Amino acid sequence: MPNFIDPTPPGQCIFCRLVAGEIPAARVFEDELTLAFMDLGQVNPGHVLVTVKRHAATLLDLTPDEAAAAMRTAQRLALAIKQSFDPPGITLLQANGKEGEQTVFHFHLHVVPRHADDGIAFTWPRKDPPREQLEEYATRLRAALLLPGLEPQQ
Ligand SMILES: [Zn+2]
Repeated sequence: MPNFIDPTPPGQCIFCRLVAGEIPAARVFEDELTLAFMDLGQVNPGHVLVTVKRHAATLLDLTPDEAAAAMRTAQRLALAIKQSFDPPGITLLQANGKEGEQTVFHFHLHVVPRHADDGIAFTWPRKDPPREQLEEYATRLRAALLLPGLEPQQ
């Protein structure tokens, strides 16, 4: 997990300043809604961050267009990483909230080239609940999807 914590005070978001060109970054790509730049930490060579240009703290704060644009840019970068670094694997990582391991509170998505035994770890403690429990969770989510604002986007 990333161990960089954004030290900037509220209102001076480090990624907003980076988007505005107030602090340097190795920029790779930008379009109307997104910016991609090299992650300072470079977990593996070619590791890129995709962010949205407007300040939005988490995935939950994006417009559907911004969410789509972020994934479009991430896929383009993944294709470019495959061409230029040829890693055998690529992992996307997107964290929301402190408990979700988010460290910079401006939406971003990591595109990480992966190699065998590269030291990246993510624990995945399976709970394997009974089928009835899965159905109950699905019922809850289906009900939430009917709420205003969660309708399918065109
Ligand atoms: Zn910001």
